[in-house]
Amino acid sequence: MSKRKADFPRLFLGEVGKTVREGVVLRDFSNFQIGGPADYFFEAASFDDLKAATLVARQHSIPYYVIGGGFNLLFDDTGFHGLIVKNSVKGVSLAASGPALTAFSGTSLDDMVAFATEKGLSGLEFLAGIPGTVGGAVFGNAGAFGRSIGESLEDALLLDKEGIEFRAQREYFSFGYRHSGLKKKHDILLSLQFRLEARDKGEIKAGIEEKLAVRAQKHPPKETAYAGSYFKNPVGPDGSKVAAGYLLEQIGARELRVGGAAVYPGHSNFLINRGNATARDVLALAGELKSRVKERFGIELEEEVIFLPAVSSGP
Ligand SMILES: Cc1cc2nc3c(=O)[nH]c(=O)nc-3n(C[C@H](O)[C@H](O)[C@H](O)COP(=O)(O)OP(=O)(O)OC[C@H]3O[C@@H](n4cnc5c(N)ncnc54)[C@H](O)[C@@H]3O)c2cc1C
Repeated sequence: MSKRKADFPRLFLGEVGKTVREGVVLRDFSNFQIGGPADYFFEAASFDDLKAATLVARQHSIPYYVIGGGFNLLFDDTGFHGLIVKNSVKGVSLAASGPALTAFSGTSLDDMVAFATEKGLSGLEFLAGIPGTVGGAVFGNAGAFGRSIGESLEDALLLDKEGIEFRAQREYFSFGYRHSGLKKKHDILLSLQFRLEARDKGEIKAGIEEKLAVRAQKHPPKETAYAGSYFKNPVGPDGSKVAAGYLLEQIGARELRVGGAAVYPGHSNFLINRGNATARDVLALAGELKSRVKERFGIELEEEVIFLPAVSSGP
C-alpha cells in the first residue's frame, strides 16, 4: 500500500526549504534503465539537505532510500512508494594529516581517483573506471583486481537511523567480499577518509591506464544498460572464490533470455537490458540462472545487484 500523503510535498517544503518532486521515473537514475515512478524524489546537494529530507520522511512515516549513481541497483517496475534521495553531495580534499584524502559520499569514484593522482597519492588506482559514488562503493565494498575500497578506508562520518551524526573507524563496517555491515545497519555515509601512500604521479597514472585497458576488454560498450556483475563469486569453505561467470557459462547462460533481459554474450555474469526489459524479466532470468547453477553444482549464487522493491518498510 502506498504511503503517499497528499500534504507531504508541502510539509517537505516547509521543513527542508526545497521542493520534493513527485512521480519521477526511476529508469532515468539506474544504469539498468529500468524502473517506474517514485512517489517522491529529491536530490540532496548538501549534508543539510540529506539530513533534513530523511528527517521529514521519518517524521511523516514515509519510507525513504538513499541512492548514489544507481550503477548497482535494479528498481521495481512499479517504482518506489516513498521518497528516493539521490546523494549529490560532492567534494574531495586533502585530509588534515596526510597522506590521506577526505571525500564527500556523493563524489564519483573517478573524480576521487583523479584527485588522488593529481596529489601523488596512491592506493585507489584499482577503482578507476568503476562507475558510481564513493558512498555506494563503501556500502557494497566495491573493488577490482583483488582489492576493495574498505581496505583503504580509515574513518567515516555517518548519519544513523535517528538522524544523529557519528564517526566510525574501519572496524565498524565489518567489510567482506562485496559486503559491509551497512547492508544491515542502514546508516547513511556522509564523508569518508582514505589512508594512502605518496607516490610518483607518472607511476600512478600508468597503473590506472593498465587497469582501464583490462576493463575495456572485459566490459560491454559504455552505453549498455546493466549493473556490472549480477552475482557475487561464490566463496568455498576454504575461502577460495569460483568465478560466477564460469559456473554460468557451464549451464549455458549465454543462450538465455527472458523478455527484454538477456545474458551478455561476452560475459555470462552480466545481465543486460536489451531495450525493453522490465525488472520482472531481469528477476526471472536471474532466478532461472540461479536454479540451474544450484541444480548442476549445488551452489547458491548470491546477487551483487540490489533489487529495491516498490514497497519497503523503510529504514
Ligand atoms: C559498467 C559497470 C561496471 C562495474 N564494475 C564494478 C567493479 O569492477 N567492481 C565493483 O565492485 N562494482 C562494479 N560495478 C557496480 C557499481 O559500479 C558499484 O557497486 C558502485 O559502487 C555503485 O555505486 P553507486 O553510487 O552507483 O551506488 P547505487 O547503485 O546508487 O547504490 C548501491 C547501494 O549503495 C547504497 N548507498 C549509496 N550511497 C550511499 C550512502 N551515501 N550511504 C549509505 N548507503 C549508500 C544504496 O542505498 C544502495 O543500497 C559496476 C557497474 C557497472 C554498471
